[in-house]
Amino acid sequence: MSSNKVKISLAWQMMIGLALGVVVGAMVDAELAKTYLQPLGDLFIRLIRMVVVPLVIATIIAGAAGISDTSKLGRVATKVLIVYAITTAISVTIGLLFAGAIQPGMGLDLSTEGLQAKAVTPPKLVDTLLAIVPINPMDAFAKGNMLQIIFFAVIFGFGLSGLGERGKPVLKFFEIVGDTMIRVTHMVMLYAPIGVFGLMSYTVSRHGLGVLLPLAKLILSSFLATATMVFVILVPMVMILGKTPMMKFLKGIFEPWLIAFTTCSSAAALPANLTAARKLGATKSIASFSIPLGNTVNMNGTAVYMGVCSIFAAEVYGLDLTMADQITIVLMGVLAAVGTAGVPGAGLIMTTIVFTQVGIPLEAVALIAGVDRILDMIRTSINVVGDVASAIVVTNMEGDLDSEPYVEGES
Ligand code: ASP
Repeated sequence: MSSNKVKISLAWQMMIGLALGVVVGAMVDAELAKTYLQPLGDLFIRLIRMVVVPLVIATIIAGAAGISDTSKLGRVATKVLIVYAITTAISVTIGLLFAGAIQPGMGLDLSTEGLQAKAVTPPKLVDTLLAIVPINPMDAFAKGNMLQIIFFAVIFGFGLSGLGERGKPVLKFFEIVGDTMIRVTHMVMLYAPIGVFGLMSYTVSRHGLGVLLPLAKLILSSFLATATMVFVILVPMVMILGKTPMMKFLKGIFEPWLIAFTTCSSAAALPANLTAARKLGATKSIASFSIPLGNTVNMNGTAVYMGVCSIFAAEVYGLDLTMADQITIVLMGVLAAVGTAGVPGAGLIMTTIVFTQVGIPLEAVALIAGVDRILDMIRTSINVVGDVASAIVVTNMEGDLDSEPYVEGES
């Protein structure tokens, strides 16, 4: 390779892949795209999914066990989980409020007549919670059940931490496995521009650019609610509780944000997110515990989306949501967001948990699916931002933040 060649950063390559995908997708026939372009995207998704389970296991175990002071570990874990729970619940609520004001489903009148609501039994809250504990961790690994895997990895990390010196070789092992998986992720990401091209061209050729129009209000609600979550909640939280200036934060999260935006996968942005959290002053142990955990568990963007989609779907089908329904949406939205895997489209599938709970016909899922790629870009990019924000806040609460003094406008 000659040294005077211009090197285009990966993020830009992905943007180019996305733009080319839209152009090509608008020109080619859907069947052709399905045969030749969709596999390019599918390959990318498979490569990402291949990385996720070992990456999450190793980084969470190493992160949890790496905090050698056990009282600190419990304190950090509790703070991280509290920040995640509060921000996620606020996210669903903001989604509900914005969609309630914009009324994205009002233009689209789909009569429920002729629709056969599927006979689904809503999952019971207690069963959903119990299912987080794996009976057999190996089974959870094999099935890629992220919540069960995380639960086990955290508990295992706590146990390992309790062994002190004797546990160090195993801790080292998981640290090295984690580093290896991060390198593997970097290798996989080299393929991302082509994968993004394949995914976008297929989506556009299948649904056409026109499909975006009637659903534009849904996209707008989702965008505004998500932007509010970032600028009214997360940024002030980082500024006040994380002692980090806004511009520094926004600059710091740009790379993982862009990766998430273009790939629609938090998992793909995990390595960049770890780096961003550290650069912004989170300690190594807090970042490597909270970022991989938050990658699956803390999904602020997906939570906003749960709120927006519930209102949209209820409006489209002419259902009135009572206050109790809205509270149920917040609770189930939090659980659904927690259970969503960091891969494209996962949130769409998880909306069914919320919809069944409040009696929204599951046909709404198919309607949303038409624009889900765009909604996914919006929500995924915020999913990763929330993780970095939480890591900074918890590091600062621990008094460990390694930041430069903020000079202007900090409250
Ligand atoms: N695509 C999202 C993510 O990777 C998950 C979702 O579909 O909501 O974070």
